[in-house]
Amino acid sequence: MIAPNPNDPDRRTFLAVAGAGVLVSNIMAQKQAVPLAPPDKQPPDLKVPDPPKKPAGYAIVGLGQLALEQVMPAFAECKRSKPVALVSGHPDKAKKVAAAYGIDPKNVYDYQTYDKLADNPAVDAVYIILPNSMHAEYTLRGLKAGKHVLCEKPMAANVAECERMIDAAKEAKKKLMIAYRLRYEPFNMKAIELVRGGEIGKLKSITASHCQNTEAPNIRLSRELAGGPVGDVGIYCLNACRYLTGEEPTEVTAVAQQPKDDPRFKEVPESVTFTLRFPSGVIATCDCSFGTDESRRYRALGADGFLELDPSFPYHGLRLRVQKGGKISEYKLEEKNHFAGEMDHFSECVLDGKDPRTPGEEGLADVRVIAAIEEAWKIGKMVAVSK
Ligand code: NDP
Repeated sequence: MIAPNPNDPDRRTFLAVAGAGVLVSNIMAQKQAVPLAPPDKQPPDLKVPDPPKKPAGYAIVGLGQLALEQVMPAFAECKRSKPVALVSGHPDKAKKVAAAYGIDPKNVYDYQTYDKLADNPAVDAVYIILPNSMHAEYTLRGLKAGKHVLCEKPMAANVAECERMIDAAKEAKKKLMIAYRLRYEPFNMKAIELVRGGEIGKLKSITASHCQNTEAPNIRLSRELAGGPVGDVGIYCLNACRYLTGEEPTEVTAVAQQPKDDPRFKEVPESVTFTLRFPSGVIATCDCSFGTDESRRYRALGADGFLELDPSFPYHGLRLRVQKGGKISEYKLEEKNHFAGEMDHFSECVLDGKDPRTPGEEGLADVRVIAAIEEAWKIGKMVAVSK
């Protein structure tokens, strides 16, 4: 037999033909060893994800700056909340917003047809983002339509309205929550934990500031719409003092400045500085303004150190530092979308029957103090907070 020439292409053919039988039988053997279908018996430790829980459907009521720039985009970061309806006085805008967020145009309402939400089972909750003077009316009508209510801060224009909202929610057996977004984000929650946990020793005083330049026209500059710096921005300082201490202030003092030469402040003060006295002895000094550059911060001063959140109130970029024994440490926490956290918490309340962390009573407590602050600046004396 002539040995095949290794360079001869025919040799390769010869070898290939000779080896083919072996190769085919090897492949067959391997193929038989590999199961052709998954076993019908599943491994005992197989992890199968649960189906996604049904999200709560929201009707957004009032398509202004907050609704369009913060709340609607925040739904993308929600796990249990979905926008399903809109309520607006401007149908063209509302239809455009509905198209952008995949909302059925049939689910666009105006302020007259708002009550028809009662016939829309896709809507579990209404989120009221209207001028402050409209919060009470739209909460009451929302409850009457059988919906749970998430309402922006300040809860309402006065104490009596807040009380009516709370009573109506109880009667309707629906959830009522005030949208204090900072109670649903990590930096302010950590500050509460540290201050109440004694990290800076016994808490003695708090200073807080929330100021901005508010340009006309603006709902915040209208008395009729229940604007004014205390309810709009000062409320963040007030609420922070209440959540850091875990107490209700008993007395307040206040001074207000309402310049006559600035047309923006014909109806509401430009700036208000107020002090709060708490039962434990903590004294808080807060300032709020519509006529200065931005200032959004607080500092809690204890016997052994201080905690500072600066800035403390914006949507992004919060910074938390603690000074103790002359050493400053900064807490690096993961930023979370405030509105997504707030809405998903409310959805849990609606869907799972939990109680809101910031219920109507929380909004009422702030409005009680705001009423005392207004009285204090008008009469120029210390005022007791009503109970
Ligand atoms: P805007 O003035 O930007 O929006 C208010 C919307 O309410 C309007 O766009 C309009 O919506 C509707 N509206 C109905 N009636 C009136 C009326 N008579 N005058 C004016 N608007 C009317 O206000 P904001 O979005 O800044 O604030 C709305 C609420 O949200 C306030 O209660 C405010 O305190 C709160 N807020 C809360 C913040 C937070 O961080 N939690 C931040 C900012 C505001 P349409 O055209 O669709 O009818």
